[in-house]
Parts: sequence; C-alpha cells; structure tokens
Amino acid sequence: MRVLPPSSPGPRSTFSPTVFSKRVRRRGARPVARCTMNPVRMCVGCRTRAPRSTLLRVVAVEANIIPDERATMPGRGAWVHETHKCVDAALRRRAFVRALRVSGPLDTQTIEKRLNGYGQEVNGSK
Ligand SMILES: [Zn+2]
Repeated sequence: MRVLPPSSPGPRSTFSPTVFSKRVRRRGARPVARCTMNPVRMCVGCRTRAPRSTLLRVVAVEANIIPDERATMPGRGAWVHETHKCVDAALRRRAFVRALRVSGPLDTQTIEKRLNGYGQEVNGSK
C-alpha cells in the first residue's frame, strides 16, 4: 500500500481562465486515512509484511542474535515471524547478517532456544 501525499501539484484546469469561480470554498474537512497506528515491518524470513505486533524483533549483541521481546533494545533490529520456518529461512539466506549489519557468523542459540521454548504449535497454517 502506498500512501500518496495529500497535496496534488498544480491546479485542476488551466485551460479555461474565464470559468474562474469567485466563490471558492475550501472543503477543508476531508477525511484522511491514518494508517500509522499499526506500523508494518517486513519479516526477514519470508519477506512478507506484517504488523509489527505479530513479528519478533531481534538484535545482535556481540554476534549473538537475541530476541528483543519489548522491541526496546538499542541498535539495529530485524523483524521476523516467531516461527522456525521464518527464522530458518532468514538464517539460510543470511538475512540477519544483512539486516543487522554484522560481520561474521552469528550465534543463534538464544533465538533457537526461544523458539523451542515457546511451545508454539503450528496447527492452523497450511
Ligand atoms: Zn515470516
């Protein structure tokens, strides 16, 4: 979804200068869709966009990938679905390395432990 800027450049009709209406009323109260309440992030695993409330933020701390539960840790973060599928995909294509701008191998034990300990059963997904 792309949000266009509210102001469109240029007047609508410049071809007929005689039709200038003297009573120009501004219709000010145009309802503007505000979509800022639910920010969207891209999952580095499956590369689809999802509301950030459904994604897990991870940060790199000294070559460790650490889940940032509250999304409050400083530094660069990467967003991923909290599933093995997405984490594995992100690891395989080194998306974490790229997203977090770290060099060298990353220790994924913490996040893997987190995934395993979560006890999330994927019944509903196809
Ligand atoms: Zn994903």
